[in-house]
Amino acid sequence: MAHLSLTNIEKTFGTFQALKDVNLEIKSGEFICLLGGSGCGKTTLLRIVAGLETQTSGEMLLDGSDLSKVNCHERNVGMVFQSLALFPHLNVGQNIAYGLEVRGVPKAERTAKAMELLDVVGLSGLYERPTSALSGGQRQRVAIARALAIKPELFLMDEPFSALDAGLREHLQIEVKKLQRKLGVTTIFVTHDQNEAMSIADRIVILNEGRVEQAGTPTEVYAQPQTRFVADFMGTNNIFTATFSQAGEVSLDNTPIGAATGDLAELNGNHLIAVRPEYLELETVTPATKGLVGTVDFVRLLGASIETELSVGARKFVHTMVSDRAPKFAVGDQAEIHFDLNHAWVIPS
Ligand code: ATP
Repeated sequence: MAHLSLTNIEKTFGTFQALKDVNLEIKSGEFICLLGGSGCGKTTLLRIVAGLETQTSGEMLLDGSDLSKVNCHERNVGMVFQSLALFPHLNVGQNIAYGLEVRGVPKAERTAKAMELLDVVGLSGLYERPTSALSGGQRQRVAIARALAIKPELFLMDEPFSALDAGLREHLQIEVKKLQRKLGVTTIFVTHDQNEAMSIADRIVILNEGRVEQAGTPTEVYAQPQTRFVADFMGTNNIFTATFSQAGEVSLDNTPIGAATGDLAELNGNHLIAVRPEYLELETVTPATKGLVGTVDFVRLLGASIETELSVGARKFVHTMVSDRAPKFAVGDQAEIHFDLNHAWVIPS
């Protein structure tokens, strides 16, 4: 069991407030991603949990006991950093066994544990290898094995794969997720990459300027963003204020864009809505066109799909569609923009 409870955590550096009223319940065995842009406080929060930093105020309980009172080196925490620090004078096996040695585990036992973990991270046979003779991906696997050797209650990772190329990064994301599931260790993973967070987290915690904007499953934060920041941050979105009339018509800047059905039928007045690019349609403009007309600014092929950017005055819209079904518009063309309002999400705040 390792249930981590953070209540009203604040952190101030001088006059700068890096964390503001952070409240989080992390269930035992849960895989949490802390996600946000540069400087939003992800690493600071992770360092507070690890004991490398102390919160200015707030409470941190691990299974009901005050974790703040436990010294950094006495916390049963395994950490992996982006710029990892494998010990250069120790070989691979000794690096993995290091934490066990510090804890006084007998040599035979720690060697056996290091061998077992090498196998788990797919590096069997490399026990004796100097760490200088490893690739970047292998070094990160050693760092993961080293962090897990001590059977941590909390497994903390800070952008562990960001220095690796895209293919290896995806491969290791899947591996680390499988490993975490198998071991059931409560995990906090810091990333600024929303795709990485979406693909590995049980729950994503989105931070913005030191505050939690939203915490939810990948599906929740993607499909039901609670704030404009989250709607913007989690992938591409078309966000605008639509006007809902009592007769059930929806308009944008006085141009009708469709009928309000389902949940939208309840709405009246102005509301901020988000429509994903895959729920837009583009049509050729004709003399009969009465809807919203945009000018194509940019078209790019994304392999399986085509992305088209359009502007309507100062407003920008993005449309995507599977390549072979996409209408062919070129830069400078005009297109009528249709919104599938059945897939519009009303942003609550
Ligand atoms: P990145 O993705 O760039 O690593 P982050 O979200 O992890 O960003 P933090 O490293 O947690 O951000 O930093 C949050 C804010 O606190 C930043 O503005 C940073 O400059 C500031 N900060 C962090 N550590 C200190 C410190 N020791 N002294 C002063 N300010 C600090």
